[in-house]
Amino acid sequence: MGPALSAPLKVGDKVIGEINVNAAAFREIFGEEDEAVLKSAADMAVVAMKSTHLEGQIKALDSVRADFISSFPHELRIPLTVIKDAVGMMLDGTTGEINDIQKKCLQLAVDNIGRLWRLTEELLELSKQVEAKSPMKRELFDIVRAVSEVMAELSLLEKEKQVSVTSLLLDKKIEVWGDEHKLRMVTSNLIKNAIIYNKLNGKVEVSLEETDTEIRLCVSDTGIGMSEQDLEKIFDKLYRVEMRAKNKDKVWGMGLVTVKEIVQMHCGKISVESQVEKGSKFIVTLPKSLRVTERGVVCDDERDQGIAP
Ligand code: ADP
Repeated sequence: MGPALSAPLKVGDKVIGEINVNAAAFREIFGEEDEAVLKSAADMAVVAMKSTHLEGQIKALDSVRADFISSFPHELRIPLTVIKDAVGMMLDGTTGEINDIQKKCLQLAVDNIGRLWRLTEELLELSKQVEAKSPMKRELFDIVRAVSEVMAELSLLEKEKQVSVTSLLLDKKIEVWGDEHKLRMVTSNLIKNAIIYNKLNGKVEVSLEETDTEIRLCVSDTGIGMSEQDLEKIFDKLYRVEMRAKNKDKVWGMGLVTVKEIVQMHCGKISVESQVEKGSKFIVTLPKSLRVTERGVVCDDERDQGIAP
């Protein structure tokens, strides 16, 4: 054997490349053993290339699936709304008189439109869960702006439920490292709950405080509150499963279980204080500085304990 060796990179019968090693400069002579080592290195390189390619394909499919799940319910709602309005107009006589049999048929259609609508709610929730579990982005964003925008998005619900939402937000930027979209989902879920589990003419207050190291988001309400037993369970996955089985017709939000997961992804904490019939207060504390390494997000306390670099 000579001072040069080569091994083909083969996928099936197809040669897609070659590994060449030339030791002429060192006046080395390769033997049969070296040739076998190079061949198995070439085979391993092909396996690695195949799995990287497959991983890329799986990621692309995952993103198509996530896009489909999040856009499909919205797409479905537009024609559903049109059908619902049209059938509703026929049912209430706007388009002319109808007999009892026609009324029954139209009522059946309305009920089933309602079922389809609830299905879109379920899909929307699923898309939120998928989004919540997607890898965390790390971006520097103004949390004051993000919270005010979420509040504006919920103004319709606020009017519908006749609850007033006020904000105690500082008139300045507070920049935080984190995943803006996920933290908006957290804020939205807490404010939505504060509005929904409230009383007529109830109040919701949203505030942001800043220390040198932390940001505190508080959402308090004058709503129905929770008992101590409920408080122990609201962040529990099983509790949600139980509640779902009991309230089949209820519209479900993203859920406090997912809220907590997102907060923890940011190395933050969530706590709640509540009194039945008086109201509740949810407090989310986020560290101002977060680092993302190849291992994921690194929390300050992990660094302090020497767990992370
Ligand atoms: P969902 O609101 O979709 O039921 P969540 O996980 O967001 O699910 O909330 C779990 C439960 O916690 C709710 O069903 C409700 O009983 C209770 N809860 C959450 N937020 C509040 C609140 N602000 N006031 C009173 N009860 C609340």
